[in-house]
Amino acid sequence: MQAVRFVGVGRPPEIHDIPKPTPGPGQVLIKIGGAGVCHSDLHVMEEDFGFVPPFTLGHENAGWVAELGQGVTGLKEGDAVAVYGPWGCGRCHACQLSMENYCENWAQIEGFGGGLGLDGGMAEYMLVPSARLLVPLGDLPPAKAAPLSDAALTPYHAIKRALPNLHAGTTAVVIGVGGLGHMAIQLLRALAPVHIIAADIDDTKLEHAKKLGADDVVNNRHIDEAAERIQEITGPRGAALVLDCVGVQATMDLGVKLLGRNSLWTIVGLGGGRHDFRHGSTPYGTSVSIPYWGSRIELMEVIAMAREGRIHADVTEYPLSQAADVYSKLKSGQITGRAVLVPQ
Ligand code: NAD
Ligand code: ZN
Ligand code: ZN
Repeated sequence: MQAVRFVGVGRPPEIHDIPKPTPGPGQVLIKIGGAGVCHSDLHVMEEDFGFVPPFTLGHENAGWVAELGQGVTGLKEGDAVAVYGPWGCGRCHACQLSMENYCENWAQIEGFGGGLGLDGGMAEYMLVPSARLLVPLGDLPPAKAAPLSDAALTPYHAIKRALPNLHAGTTAVVIGVGGLGHMAIQLLRALAPVHIIAADIDDTKLEHAKKLGADDVVNNRHIDEAAERIQEITGPRGAALVLDCVGVQATMDLGVKLLGRNSLWTIVGLGGGRHDFRHGSTPYGTSVSIPYWGSRIELMEVIAMAREGRIHADVTEYPLSQAADVYSKLKSGQITGRAVLVPQ
């Protein structure tokens, strides 16, 4: 079968022909309906995360059950499912709470999950090690639902933790309206009575943000002007939540200017920006966090929201064979919403 392979740091992905896997005891084979093209893959291909090549990319996956390994019950061939991405040990305290994203045994486990060190979903079929990692999609089409498993789950996890602070009269600023950011705006809209400001350096993305429910949009190409404009909107209270879906130096420098007292500064983007912490470097009471992905139960909740039409991923589908080109498009900011690779 055709698969998009990570072949080493500093090299573009390559399409290779690899054998179709067979599920062993407890495993499930998924026929892929779509695999989301996440910006994290660009970091994986350009920076050294310690992943050993080769493996199949794609950590944002959905499809249909194709074959059940020995002993697997509760699923049947043809069921539409999303694949939960961060694969933990399944036994520790965090995993038992469904938070495999914070598995205590992560250092002993090979890879982070399918597409991140292990074979992922940019292929015709994908092997999933356990049925516990599959969430039923009902009638959601897999290619449209694939981004729910990361582009929506990651901001959902971050926003859910922030909800007690996001009461009426507060402001949330979402920086970066790409795959994650376009879901974050919808999630905030659906979950909290908060005023939403979206910031991006690309006006097309800001137009998109408006359509998805942002109350105000600000181009932050010039940090000081953008900060002033946002401060005018928030007033002296500042932002209750700054959700940085980019994480580069420029967005960290912007974010810190927007925080109010007792606020949340949540950095999801892996852009490598820094902040020099000391008393006075953020307003009093600021909580800073760097959340990672989300829990299995949160994925169930995200899928429930999508099934009820409260959120949707804006998906552009591309054939698997165009993977390298789609990654270049993502890198140069030409993807609005999420690109999803679909096997032919
Ligand atoms: P994307 O490429 O789809 O979107 C990035 C957006 O940021 C684009 O709209 C782009 O115009 C905008 N942008 C770029 N530079 C900017 C700047 N200086 N100021 C404002 N906006 C800017 O990316 P994505 O797939 O949404 O991923 C976003 C980030 O989140 C990546 O770094 C990715 O690796 C990371 N990520 C983290 C987690 C996690 O669990 N922490 C999970 C998934 C993705
Ligand atoms: Zn991702
Ligand atoms: Zn665990």
